Amino acid sequence: MNAPVIMWFRQDLRLSDHPALHAAAAAGPVIPVFILDDETPGEWRWGGASRWWLHHSLAALGKDVPLVLRRGRPEAVLAALLRKTQASALYFTRDYAPWSGKLEQRVKDACDAAGAACHRYGGFLLHEPESVRTGAGDYFKVYTPFSRVCFGKGEPRAAKGTVSATWATHGLERRSLDNLRLLPTQPNWATGFGPVWQPGEAGAKARLVRFLEDGLKGYAEGRDRTDLAHTSQLSAHLHWGEISPYQVWQATRQAMEAAGGVLDRDGEKFLKEVLWREFAYHLVHHVPNFPEQPFRPEFAAFPWRPDDKALARWQRGETGYPIVDAGMRELWATGIMHNRVRMITASFLIKHLLQPWQAGERWFWDTLVDADIGNNAASWQWVAGCGADASPYFRIFNPVLQGEKFDPRGDYVKRWVPELRDVPAEMIHRPWEMTLPPKSYPPPMVDHARARARALAAFAALKTGESP
Ligand SMILES: Cc1cc2nc3c(=O)[nH]c(=O)nc-3n(C[C@H](O)[C@H](O)[C@H](O)COP(=O)(O)OP(=O)(O)OC[C@H]3O[C@@H](n4cnc5c(N)ncnc54)[C@H](O)[C@@H]3O)c2cc1C
Repeated sequence: MNAPVIMWFRQDLRLSDHPALHAAAAAGPVIPVFILDDETPGEWRWGGASRWWLHHSLAALGKDVPLVLRRGRPEAVLAALLRKTQASALYFTRDYAPWSGKLEQRVKDACDAAGAACHRYGGFLLHEPESVRTGAGDYFKVYTPFSRVCFGKGEPRAAKGTVSATWATHGLERRSLDNLRLLPTQPNWATGFGPVWQPGEAGAKARLVRFLEDGLKGYAEGRDRTDLAHTSQLSAHLHWGEISPYQVWQATRQAMEAAGGVLDRDGEKFLKEVLWREFAYHLVHHVPNFPEQPFRPEFAAFPWRPDDKALARWQRGETGYPIVDAGMRELWATGIMHNRVRMITASFLIKHLLQPWQAGERWFWDTLVDADIGNNAASWQWVAGCGADASPYFRIFNPVLQGEKFDPRGDYVKRWVPELRDVPAEMIHRPWEMTLPPKSYPPPMVDHARARARALAAFAALKTGESP
């Protein structure tokens, strides 16, 4: 019998199309290990909603493989496990968070010290950050030419099926998942998550199939409609690697081919969104302080007005703007928020309330089940106007018009803001203009026109260096 090898699972909690795992399975009996590392990422350790998801995803994976669960610094934990099992090699999937390069080097050093081989694979992204370069050899700071180069590379490799491995534990203690204490205790704020989500590989595949059957047709037009179910809701599954981007890409292409051109516009649009994820990860890989610092350095001097009370009203969904409040309450109740509403709520926090984008980024980090170091940072910087290829700061969403355009009947608002259930559709996004507005719903915490003028003055001050 070959010596065992260790498969270190990270954000790759699946058994199919998994380059590291396929290679490990070919090398010998596989000891599957997951390590909860709350130390290396520092303030970016997983937030509450991510932990809820992780618990259930590990539970799902643990039904198929004898997962060895540990917590601590991966290099120390893995060194001990390699010693104890005499494993000949370690296999893992590369990660792109700012701290990961150094962590992976320390893990390699631990393998060297233990006399074990160390094998790192891709699989989280379609394109490694080193492989997509401008003509001048730099990384891309603008999305459109980035995506053009990605499409120009031809179709990604074919996705592989489920691995066939001999699983082993070599006498390692199998500790209970509950020891990781990932679930909320009291109060249990996650009661609304279970009915919405099925973490794990089976849930990811089911979600993809449902999307291709019911959501893809009409995606290009419908993806912005908050009241329709046109998006895939695959982000958390992709984030935890319960499905690979290759599987998503390939299945989409197959659906497009089967429809004989009918889905071309929708399919292309969807694949372009998948490439936004790649773009975000390339940025965060190349610019390690991207989650904290504005990509455009001049924004470091932006005259924010930090205000805990205003931030709390936004977090609780009590701003008085229905589309904003619906989004924030959907987020709290389910761990997700529609992309269009993320843009509207983020814009409101940054521009109407002049709160630093990092405050919103951290709230999302704690409350989103798809909280993602690349996509979250890139998207907040995009809305704030300080990112690479960002929306200009002076483009300030009007929450009333956004609501009327993307939730025309108010169905989305009524689902999440029950105080407004009886408001007629034509007033749902401006209830304060009713003769008798619902008493239980607050009036707008800021006037849109005044807030817009204040935001533009702050932006002008940034450019001139004068105080607003
Ligand atoms: C302020 C703000 C914060 C965000 N934070 C996150 C986050 O923490 N994690 C996260 O995964 N996405 C984040 N997004 C991007 C986007 O909102 C979500 O990826 C999307 O809503 C997920 O829903 P879906 O899977 O149905 O998307 P679909 O429309 O079905 O798109 C398919 C996939 O493409 C990727 N994608 C789509 N839009 C984007 C985008 N704008 N940027 C990067 N990747 C994208 C996702 O992986 C998504 O699952 C954020 C957007 C904003 C405006």
